[in-house]
Amino acid sequence: MRFPLSMTASLAGYIAKNKLRPKPEWQKTIKPGSDSSNPFHIVYTHTNAARKPHPMINRRFPLVLMLEPLHACNLTCTGCGRIREYESTITQRLSLEQCLAASDECGAPVVSICGGEPMLYPEIGALVKALAARNKTIYLCTNGMFIKKKLKEFTPNEKFFFNVHLDGMEKNHDIAVEREGVFREAVEGLRLAKQAGFKVCTNTTVYKETDINEIEELFEYLSQFNVDGHMISPAYGYSAVNDREIFMTRDDIYEKFKNIDKLAERFPLSTTPTYLEFLQGKRDYPCTAWGNPTYNVKGWKGPCYLITDAHYKTFEELMTRTPWESYGAGNDPRCDHCMVHCGFEPSAALGINSKFGDTFKLMSWAFR
Ligand code: SF4
Ligand code: SF4
Repeated sequence: MRFPLSMTASLAGYIAKNKLRPKPEWQKTIKPGSDSSNPFHIVYTHTNAARKPHPMINRRFPLVLMLEPLHACNLTCTGCGRIREYESTITQRLSLEQCLAASDECGAPVVSICGGEPMLYPEIGALVKALAARNKTIYLCTNGMFIKKKLKEFTPNEKFFFNVHLDGMEKNHDIAVEREGVFREAVEGLRLAKQAGFKVCTNTTVYKETDINEIEELFEYLSQFNVDGHMISPAYGYSAVNDREIFMTRDDIYEKFKNIDKLAERFPLSTTPTYLEFLQGKRDYPCTAWGNPTYNVKGWKGPCYLITDAHYKTFEELMTRTPWESYGAGNDPRCDHCMVHCGFEPSAALGINSKFGDTFKLMSWAFR
């Protein structure tokens, strides 16, 4: 990933400061109650007594805010949980003030603007501008179809990235998003953004059917545009998505990612090398879902970006009322095959279960 070292340094400083002096108000553990701020039920909670406590359970703080200003989208991708789960509120959106208040409330140094399709948010330009003024690193996650039309609403900034979703080469990407021509428009948007001086990375979800050779072909093809980085993560089996066949078990994921090092050597992967080792089964991480909290029209989504047992009015409620130790593989069957970046990249970034040589690995990755 090509990003300024000052960004890495400031993130490292933020992590060190919060590990040393975590905010006490976020470390309390309050039993999830039937109060009005939490109208949803915890559907399944069971704590595995044999499980070791999460090493950071009393030092909880966020790294990346997943901000969903709206859930409306121009596409209906096969594997998308969002447009299905939030069907009843699909016409609602957060105000600009609510978006900024959420960012201020949690204070995460990185904001990933997702959705739905965030380029459909009428104040998307103003939102990015206001987050940039707060010195946030911003990823605008988009299917790429509106970049061409809306590019003039943005100003290039070394901490602002268009993050274009591409799941394969033209034929397979268009099948996944269920519409012909999407790949071409996304690539054209990406090309124009790079030409105009913007940072652009891509985001690829790996499904059971994904051929990693095709992902290599995709990255090879994209290298002509001098793309700044590639994120890659296994898909999660949303209960809201009917097609269970497309999602992978942990063993499927290990098999799929076993040769990922080759891609990491050739292309600027933004995925941390230690998280890639987790995907290969070479190390284990507990889920650190509070590292990537999600805020949307229903509030702070708990426990994570993927599963929803509650929406809370405040970030502090999410941090203190979520029964964190009831989640993760072995505790909740919905977590058993989950290895997605929003639960486990924070574990890698926080250096949980670190091994000798990790610092060197991370430094070489950052310098590369
Ligand atoms: S573009 Fe994104 S939000 Fe829209 S349907 Fe596809 S995955 Fe869902
Ligand atoms: S393991 Fe996955 S599904 Fe379970 S809480 Fe963590 S991120 Fe969410």
